[in-house]
Order: sequence, then structure tokens, then C-alpha cells
Amino acid sequence: MGNIRLKNVSKSFAATTVIPGIDLDIQDGEFVVFVGPSGCGKSTLLRIIAGLEDATAGHIEIDGRDVTNEAPAKRGLAMVFQSYALYPHMTVRNNIAFPLKMAKMDEGAIDKKVTEAARVLNLTNYLDRRPGQLSGGQRQRVAIGRAIVREPSAFLFDEPLSNLDAALRGTMRLEISELHNQLKTTMIYVTHDQVEAMTMADKIVVLNAGNIEQVGSPLDLYHKPNNLFVAGFIGSPR
Ligand code: ADP
Ligand code: MG
Repeated sequence: MGNIRLKNVSKSFAATTVIPGIDLDIQDGEFVVFVGPSGCGKSTLLRIIAGLEDATAGHIEIDGRDVTNEAPAKRGLAMVFQSYALYPHMTVRNNIAFPLKMAKMDEGAIDKKVTEAARVLNLTNYLDRRPGQLSGGQRQRVAIGRAIVREPSAFLFDEPLSNLDAALRGTMRLEISELHNQLKTTMIYVTHDQVEAMTMADKIVVLNAGNIEQVGSPLDLYHKPNNLFVAGFIGSPR
């Protein structure tokens, strides 16, 4: 299950308040996009959900369990980093297997999980290569594979496609949407790109200076924007 609830979550860095207070409900299986201009607090909010950053106040619940003070590894979520976070000296197989080896899972079970992740991601024929021998899209899929094997209750993506060229971004957008259709696992996807938000999301959360301006489906936001900020942000290409 991957129901995530934020209750009055706030964040300040020293004297600077970055997130004044956010309430948000994410349902199991939803593809939720956090969108907003650079510096509005998207990454901070995602990192608070992941447990990589402490909230200054408020609570985070996963499937009804208060995880506010739980370590990241205990939350059952997987953060997908950009592809350059792969280990260059390890094969694709070992990159994907890495979190399971850290968890001391037995080799047979690891092998099964890696094989299955590679199948889902069309990486079966690339398992013995190293990241340097892969295309940008393949490398990004390996980064996703490393998350899949942990069978998280939600995947958290922070602008995973921002270092890819435009054509590849389009392809990867479709691949991640397809992956969501297959796995039906909750995904939270951070981007400043309106096109990604509109094409990928079940639910879009529009952020502006640490506040939620609107939560709704792409159609809701397009046809019934709450205010000029949402209308301008969703309406205008970047
Ligand atoms: P986004 O991901 O939407 O671009 P961030 O969440 O990275 O925005 O940052 C939101 C605000 O918080 C920015 O003003 C940024 O400078 C500030 N910020 C983020 N991390 C830190 C930090 N570790 N220390 C101080 N300020 C930070
Ligand atoms: Mg960011």
C-alpha cells in the first residue's frame, strides 16, 4: 500500500521558512506530480517525505502509520535519483542488486528480483554492461531498477529527466508512465516542466513559494485554475 498523508508539514532553514505548512493526501496507486518554479520547495518536500530531511513541524503518515521520526530506510519508499548516481565501475546487474546486497538478502533471491526488474525495464540484454556502455535512457532505467527491486510502497522521483536531451525526455516520460501502468505503485514525481506534469499526472500539486496553489487532475487545472498563478504556470510553456 502507498497512501501518504502530510499534516501541516512545515520547513525552515535557520530563519528562512521554505514551507509554511502543507496538508496533502496521496492515495495508493496515484501518479502525483509536484510542479512549480525553481526554488518553490519541491525537492525539500519530497526529501521530507523520504526522510532525507526533517520537517520543522507537522506529521507524515504512510498507510496510517506516523513515520515523521522514522529513518528513511524504514519508510518503505524508494527515491529514484538521476542516472549519474549509478556506480560506474559496477555492472548493470550489480548496480540494480546493490540495495539488496546492502540488505544482505540471499544471492538466489537477489538474482530473481534483478532478473524480474530487468525484464520490466527491457534491460535483460544489458545486465553485464557497465553504465558507461549504455545510452542515457538505459542508464535512467537502471536507476529505476535499483528502486524497483526494493518493492517500495511508493517511488519518489526528483526531476529524473532533467539531464537528458529533449527527445530522450519524451521517450522516458512514456516509459515511466508505462511502468506506473504495470506496477500500479504510488509515484510522486517532481518537475518544473509543465508538459511532464500535464502528460504524466493523475493528480498535480502546484507549488508556489512553499504553498500549494491547487491540487487537481490535469484537466481540472487546465479548465478550472484556482488563480492566475496556476493559469499562468499551466498555460504557458516554459
Ligand atoms: P525546488 O526543488 O522547487 O527548486 P528546493 O526545495 O530545492 O526547491 O528549495 C526551496 C528553497 O529552500 C530554496 O530557496 C532553497 O534555496 C532553500 N533550501 C533548500 N535546501 C536548503 C538547505 N539545505 N539550506 C538552506 N536553504 C535551502
Ligand atoms: Mg529541486
